[in-house]
Amino acid sequence: MYNLRKAISPPSQLLPPLPQIHLPQTGAQSPRRRDEARLDESNPRSRWYLNFDHVIPGKKGNLVVCCALVNDMKSDMTADEFVTVIRAFDVHKKTGVFPKESIDLRHWVRMVRPSKLGAGRLPAEKGTAVTNCGICGKRSVPGSVYCVRCRKFLFGKYERQARFKALKQAWSEGQDGFICRYTGIRLEESDTKDPWYLSFDHRIPGKKGDLAVSARFVNTVKATLTAEQFPRVMDALARHLEGAPFDKGIIGE
Ligand SMILES: [Zn+2]
Repeated sequence: MYNLRKAISPPSQLLPPLPQIHLPQTGAQSPRRRDEARLDESNPRSRWYLNFDHVIPGKKGNLVVCCALVNDMKSDMTADEFVTVIRAFDVHKKTGVFPKESIDLRHWVRMVRPSKLGAGRLPAEKGTAVTNCGICGKRSVPGSVYCVRCRKFLFGKYERQARFKALKQAWSEGQDGFICRYTGIRLEESDTKDPWYLSFDHRIPGKKGDLAVSARFVNTVKATLTAEQFPRVMDALARHLEGAPFDKGIIGE
């Protein structure tokens, strides 16, 4: 006889166990905690809205349920890779050194389209007499206040002044490069497919004119968080990996 009960076995028997990072966790001890941890089922704009995450990016058929916030942050990473990123930020917080070598994103596809015109094709700016780049201080392109290296990141009119400010702030004479605001790592400037490629982060998502230079993958992990919320959330995720319940309140909204 066909066993219907068996055929519709509960999802828990069909799905792989949830990785710990998939927040908020259910099954916490107190009823209050259980309520805090519950996913939002009605408001798609909520950070805690129920999302389906591909455990391995791009690989269909293996989904877990998690909140929209973590799904956004995890982006093109596997669950394991995302955990490694959380731990790397924890090491950075504790030691001041970001363990760059631990980051190995095998599914990373967030390539940045290189500028169409590239370096050296910007129209001449005012102040052509300047011979040192306004950002790095090296010799500028004739007719420009920037050098070849810096000006490619200023191409286009979009938030150009804010980009200039962010680049100037990120420039390190000692390391001869641009430093990621959130990891302290010297950024990649040529390979647009590299997770460490230089990107401009809106310190407050959606708010123009306030940019920070950061690694592309960090920018993606920061997702919809502000510059102030981001370290708090990364820290809460690191504590959660150690078994602490995730406190939604740390976002401060
Ligand atoms: Zn320069």
